[in-house]
Amino acid sequence: MDLRDSPEEARFRARLRTWLAENVPDEPEPTRLADRWPLTLDFQRRLYQGGWVALTYPVEVGGQGLGVMEEAILSEELGRANAPTVLPLSHLARPLYTLGTEEQKRRYLPALLAATEIWCQGFSEPMAGSDLASLRTRAVREGDEWVLSGHKIWTSYGVFSDYCLLLARTDPGEKAHRGISAFIVPLDSPGVTVRAIVLANGDEEFAEVYLDDVRVPHDNLLGRPGDGWQVAMEVINHERGAVDTGYLPKFDRYLTELAAAVKEQQTPVDRATLRALGEAAASLEVLRMHCLRTLSDRASGVLSGPESSVDKLLMTAVEQKLTQVSMALLTDTTGAHRARWFDRYLYGRAASIYGGSSQIQRNILAQRRLGLPR
Ligand SMILES: Cc1cc2nc3c(=O)[nH]c(=O)nc-3n(C[C@H](O)[C@H](O)[C@H](O)COP(=O)(O)OP(=O)(O)OC[C@H]3O[C@@H](n4cnc5c(N)ncnc54)[C@H](O)[C@@H]3O)c2cc1C
Repeated sequence: MDLRDSPEEARFRARLRTWLAENVPDEPEPTRLADRWPLTLDFQRRLYQGGWVALTYPVEVGGQGLGVMEEAILSEELGRANAPTVLPLSHLARPLYTLGTEEQKRRYLPALLAATEIWCQGFSEPMAGSDLASLRTRAVREGDEWVLSGHKIWTSYGVFSDYCLLLARTDPGEKAHRGISAFIVPLDSPGVTVRAIVLANGDEEFAEVYLDDVRVPHDNLLGRPGDGWQVAMEVINHERGAVDTGYLPKFDRYLTELAAAVKEQQTPVDRATLRALGEAAASLEVLRMHCLRTLSDRASGVLSGPESSVDKLLMTAVEQKLTQVSMALLTDTTGAHRARWFDRYLYGRAASIYGGSSQIQRNILAQRRLGLPR
């Protein structure tokens, strides 16, 4: 496949670059979430108003009716322009779009995509992370309502959110991933308590969500009873794609910064650090080639299945290698620059956990791609 821009794609890219040049703030993004969040929301809303959100969704639900190549160009250009963090919306929007009723799509999707209503993902529980199917949150039907009780944890942006896309067991008779359903839960419902988890760096990025006999209308069920696993897989698969997340240009920037630091160091950089930087650069090239293949598949209508686990593993490897090498390299640096890299390093540790840990990704590939026994 020829991955160079077609004339229309080149025009799209040029228009986007002009918009980004006018809209990306000059100052670096604040490191702390509390300072960053209002800017993240502001940028997200401007992106939406500019017509740069949900490119592949139909216009009726707040999208732009474009294709996968435009979406990849957007991701690439956002990274290249060093744009502020973009809210991870598409993985939550996707199941609403594929499984939602017409009424649900009309009611929720435009506000979710415009970031005028904020959503979070309520899957993990204290005893159910990798083994998500062992979740204990229950939902019982009473007439036209469902009554939910349980406890969710590690809910990203939970304290900032208006709605939670939440998994609960609706059929206790069914085992494992059968008998789980997905619900749209307004977080201001009576019986919901959202409690922030304060990270070591002071950020309140996660929350615990307690559900104490929370009543939601039957209309808030997403899909049919028992469709919860399908919703979960759709969310998780869209959370893993390297092409969608703008990670490539972000890692390119990291590498450029680190290579510049090698040249600027007063004392010569030791061989082990240089080798580690070289290995990180090589891993980044592997990720780039993998992304191009994914893009080529998508453009021919082939969607990723278990292969999205390869994306997740490669992204994790690059992020951890680059940020780890930065700790050895930037010892002369002080102040905000080192603090920013230290934050990147710490966040890199989370990469092998969120969206399914690296061990789980390898299990998925072993079983579903290579057909190895459990
Ligand atoms: C930054 C971040 C954001 C997150 N955001 C959200 C969110 O918004 N919503 C949400 O619902 N969750 C979220 N999570 C939670 C995340 O999905 C879980 O942390 C993850 O699925 C792992 O579950 P766990 O923490 O319970 O670890 P566990 O499942 O207890 O795993 C502990 C260790 O055992 C290993 N392990 C477990 N089972 C196996 C196995 N079968 N084979 C081999 N090794 C195994 C794991 O790899 C891991 O190393 C987030 C996590 C992070 C770090």
